[in-house]
Amino acid sequence: MSQPAIPFDPSCMDEYDPNSLPGDEDLRRIDAGATPISGTERVALRASLGRVLAQSVLTPIDVPLHTNSAMDGYAVSGAALPGAQPIEMKVVGTSWAGRPYAGSVAPGEAVRIMTGGVMPDGTDTVVIQERASVNGHTIGFAGDAARAGDNVRAAGEDMAAGSIVLETGSRIGPAELGMLASVGIVEVTVRRRLRVAFFSTGDELRSLGESLEPGSVYDSNRYTLFGMLTRLGAEIIDMGVVPDTRDAVQLAFGEASACADAVITSGGVSVGEADFVKETLESQGEVNFWKIAMKPGRPLAFGHVSDAVFFGLPGNPVSVMVTYYQFVQPALRRMMGERETRPPRMHVRTSVPLKKRSGRVEFQRGVLKSTPDGTMTVESTGEQGSGILSSMHAANCFIILPMENDGVGAGELVEVEPFHGVM
Ligand code: AMP
Ligand code: MG
Repeated sequence: MSQPAIPFDPSCMDEYDPNSLPGDEDLRRIDAGATPISGTERVALRASLGRVLAQSVLTPIDVPLHTNSAMDGYAVSGAALPGAQPIEMKVVGTSWAGRPYAGSVAPGEAVRIMTGGVMPDGTDTVVIQERASVNGHTIGFAGDAARAGDNVRAAGEDMAAGSIVLETGSRIGPAELGMLASVGIVEVTVRRRLRVAFFSTGDELRSLGESLEPGSVYDSNRYTLFGMLTRLGAEIIDMGVVPDTRDAVQLAFGEASACADAVITSGGVSVGEADFVKETLESQGEVNFWKIAMKPGRPLAFGHVSDAVFFGLPGNPVSVMVTYYQFVQPALRRMMGERETRPPRMHVRTSVPLKKRSGRVEFQRGVLKSTPDGTMTVESTGEQGSGILSSMHAANCFIILPMENDGVGAGELVEVEPFHGVM
């Protein structure tokens, strides 16, 4: 393992670990180790929600199919508009949405038109109804009530026939379902679902329904993992709690890697634990690294067990979520064939000081707020311990403080990564 060039501050020895890797290097290694799965299937449009396209989709038609009105009003020829002079025009018919006006329109004539109505021959401009006064079969309006081309949606302006509507590697969400429906696509080719097996290790863990003795805790990591992986659209294989024994760990890895594309464990990767996870990985697979210069989240293991990609997450509940979102999810999205795998980040001012020691990248939990002047600020959720899972509930973003940073004053800019909504 090569030693990274980390800015080194001797006063922070306790935070500094020479075997730790800075985040970017980890990401490169993970990207290289997580390649897209093969296997596709044809599914009906609705069933493609949450799936990843395995083939680009071309539209056979223009959307909109015909040039049409964006407003209720009067379709006229833009060339017939007299500048600032008022004008009167004869209304020769109506174009409803779905019921076009069949005739053609001479200069100086108008057609009553509804939003979505096809623009009649001879017209290219809509004067909105609020700008026109009706007098029997004529309308009057100021000549500058519209400029040529106003309030019209051109055929193909959203999607042009023959063009790519959605690229391979796009994840299908509500907007994509609607786009595909608008071009008449009833079935799409998507990647098969990614199979992800996970289990928890730790003799102190109890499953729900069991009683807690002193020192035992309920296994919550399998529930956060269930939630995160289900949201991601993975096919999950929950293997439960695996006891800290050599045989149990070996058996679990054997079963998991036989049926899944990726295996995720939590707990059991720390130094000083009954290290059967590490030992098993060394015999059944290949492990890429063990420590990451981040907080929370160190240690973390990544590698392969048989043909499955393996992520060994720390046991602490917040560490599980942070390392999942920062490392595991982007890799799984890549395996799912997605093109975009990382959420955007931005810089905002922190309204409170943030405590930090140099030597590790920190993913603090923050709350983004809009201020009355229209900008955003971020504040801490408070106590940042890696066991404080309620901090993830309180937060709506990660505040990412770089390795060398040793604390931030109120009013300074910090990098944040907003949590995803449900779009
Ligand atoms: P470990 O990484 O195994 O040393 O665990 C670190 C801490 O996380 C310990 O306090 C464990 O009890 C706790 N922990 C480990 N696994 C889980 C789990 N599945 N659910 C909740 N807490 C856990
Ligand atoms: Mg443990």
